[in-house]
Amino acid sequence: MTMTLGVSLTGRRVVLVGGGSVTARRLTRLVAEGAHAVVVAPQLSPEVRALVDDHGLAWRSHAVRRSDIDRAWFVHTATGDREVDALVAAWCEAERILCVNASDGSHGSARMTSEVRSGDVIVGVVGDAGVDPRRSARVSSRIREVLDRGGADLRRVRASAPGGVALVGGGPGPIDLMTIRARRLLAEADVVIADRLGPVGVLDELDPDVQVIHVGKAPGHHSASQDEINALLVEHATAGKRVVRLKGGDPFVFGRGGEEVTACLEAGVPVEVVPAPTSAVAVPQAAGIPVTHRGVASSVHIINGQHEFTAATREALADAEVTTVLLMGVAAFGSLAERALAAGVPAARPVAFVENGHTERQRTTHSTLGRAAEDAARAGVRNPAVIVIGEVAAPELLLPVAAQKRRAPA
Ligand code: SAH
Repeated sequence: MTMTLGVSLTGRRVVLVGGGSVTARRLTRLVAEGAHAVVVAPQLSPEVRALVDDHGLAWRSHAVRRSDIDRAWFVHTATGDREVDALVAAWCEAERILCVNASDGSHGSARMTSEVRSGDVIVGVVGDAGVDPRRSARVSSRIREVLDRGGADLRRVRASAPGGVALVGGGPGPIDLMTIRARRLLAEADVVIADRLGPVGVLDELDPDVQVIHVGKAPGHHSASQDEINALLVEHATAGKRVVRLKGGDPFVFGRGGEEVTACLEAGVPVEVVPAPTSAVAVPQAAGIPVTHRGVASSVHIINGQHEFTAATREALADAEVTTVLLMGVAAFGSLAERALAAGVPAARPVAFVENGHTERQRTTHSTLGRAAEDAARAGVRNPAVIVIGEVAAPELLLPVAAQKRRAPA
């Protein structure tokens, strides 16, 4: 019978007998664990040699002898010779050292597991009868899938680790554009503080007793001030909770993520930031607009439409090779266009309004700078929208319109 046991080999002496590919694989894992590894083999394969060199490991270049296992906590034997491996296993048995015998698992006292990690949770898969690593790998890859899509509740039940805040970028909306790290942190969260934009659908999948606090601006509703949000983050984390601050797009692109990080650090709260596709790039892309395109646009200027019209923006708009991307810009667009035209930006400069990018309600309105304000008003363009000004916003940049229509779903 076998039982699984979580063992820490960090800083402990482990001996790997044999210098071939099995040793190489195990060595990688043991070195990552911080084990103090010694390799015993007359010759090393190039892979093992590289690991030994890279990590400055000890190599005893002779056929294994009994004294090689002295003072080891753990021995792994994979010499390619069953008799030698059996002998090493027998020495370990006599010395009460745990041993994996790679040539025949039933002779060793330990077995390697096929391992899946998600944050600080580790799942090890091992067979109880004969060794069958590919079978264990298959099982563990299914477990990996479940964990990667946030399919297991990873919240801490005991307050074994301190609270903290993760500023998690959720991308432009679809759940499958979230990162695996974002899903994992959500699965670990006790409290989620969410915006209105972004992958709000993922909140429905959380356990009902995860506390979800909505702080986003919804028309006609009170939205929390930045100070209130900062205070919420600090308050819950200080109470030992794992807090996820879920944001649309990327936390550091007009997401006030920087302010939240500062507030956490000032309060001594551990904080991490998880990046994500920003709507400034992903929303135009959803409409077939690349923000840079060889020979057309070589740089991108991203602005907040609610801010002032700066000299840098005027220059960006005037430069035919710069793409200007406007977030939060629907209300202010008219005055920005007027100022740009007054500054001499050509009226023919293409403009595209992409509303609700990556959602079922996505809609693109193409125009040119001279007529765009009027066209947007006529079409009833509303927030959330990303506005692209520049040659990349021309309707037929990547494909003729006819071909785009042909490819559109019926
Ligand atoms: N941190 C976010 C931006 C927040 S500012 C990011 O990196 O994407 C909010 C603005 O983002 C909105 O006013 C709108 O301009 C844009 N936006 C976000 N999601 C959008 C979407 N799905 N479709 C269109 N615009 C979007």
